[in-house]
Amino acid sequence: MKYLDEYRDSSLARPLVEALKTSVTKPLRIMEVCGSHTMAIFRNGIRSILPRGMELISGPGCPVCVTSSAHMDAFISMADEPGVRLAIFGDLFRVPGSNGSLAEASSRGAKVNIVYSPMDGLEIARKNPDEHVVFLGVGFETTTPTIAATILAAKNQQITNFTVFSTQKTMLPPMRALLDDPNLKIDGLICPGHVSSIIGSSVWEPLADEYGLACVVGGFETADLLKSLILLARQVGEGRPRVENVYPRAVSPEGNLRARQMVEEIFEPADMEWRGLGILPGSGLKIRDKYCEFDAESRFDIRLQAVEEPKGCKCGEILKGICSPRECPLFDSRCTPANPIGPCMVSSEGTCAAYYKYGRE
Ligand code: SF4
Repeated sequence: MKYLDEYRDSSLARPLVEALKTSVTKPLRIMEVCGSHTMAIFRNGIRSILPRGMELISGPGCPVCVTSSAHMDAFISMADEPGVRLAIFGDLFRVPGSNGSLAEASSRGAKVNIVYSPMDGLEIARKNPDEHVVFLGVGFETTTPTIAATILAAKNQQITNFTVFSTQKTMLPPMRALLDDPNLKIDGLICPGHVSSIIGSSVWEPLADEYGLACVVGGFETADLLKSLILLARQVGEGRPRVENVYPRAVSPEGNLRARQMVEEIFEPADMEWRGLGILPGSGLKIRDKYCEFDAESRFDIRLQAVEEPKGCKCGEILKGICSPRECPLFDSRCTPANPIGPCMVSSEGTCAAYYKYGRE
């Protein structure tokens, strides 16, 4: 398949592995921000060929993992509302709240549909006029435009039994919060490729300038990942942090302007609660008053309750990059993909799930 196979070609990868070895001239710690990168790095065996001195840690870029327990509980109580049907992305189904999961709610009769896009949720609403369909918006800048497009479609089609419960988040505020934490020591970032395809590579420039951080926007195939690490090592070695983009087939400096305009039309920044990071000002996206008829939080009286995180679970520290899954005493004992204690073990982009699948010793 074009744009995939050539980046997986081992004859291309071998010289890049050699180049990576010679590029690392001093110890360096790199954070891969995005959960898809975490999985791709494991899947491609990149960790096993890292040169001495280069360390990779995972960041907060898994949207399901950073969804707070309070939001999970609100989702589950909404599923239990009579006449309500939830439309959700599949990763959310088994995430534990403080008292069960959406899967458990579904088994006791709550109506929960797993969908591939918000438009599927709108279609379910169109076919079921006697029900109210709530799409759970759990994602970053990559998924926000599709939700904005769905709300515009709902308005155009005058569908009145569809709303969105938005916990959509943006990536820059949590990265600033992490970088301001003296406990986190990193030299560079593999910036998220999918998010950057919408917001543009130039968005990361303030992080490079203000924090002296090497930044490379990377893709998800073997060659993309190796090239990203080579450039990061060179930037750190030369002491010249900046933003480089090795994913130009998907990412431009300015991003997808049409998508950004659509998001701007529907959403506005709002404070948002993150698992492990607490409430970060302006890090979420709420639906503008102009479109409040599609805002589940306006239509239903949703109040978030303070909830304790699962006992012993270190998802919060893992999302902040200060702890690895192997440092969690529950990893691969009480917590497994079949019996997850925290979201990082459930999500297909979760760091604990990645370590369980590819990184067990
Ligand atoms: Fe939480 Fe399980 Fe990961 Fe431990 S292994 S941090 S309990 S999800």
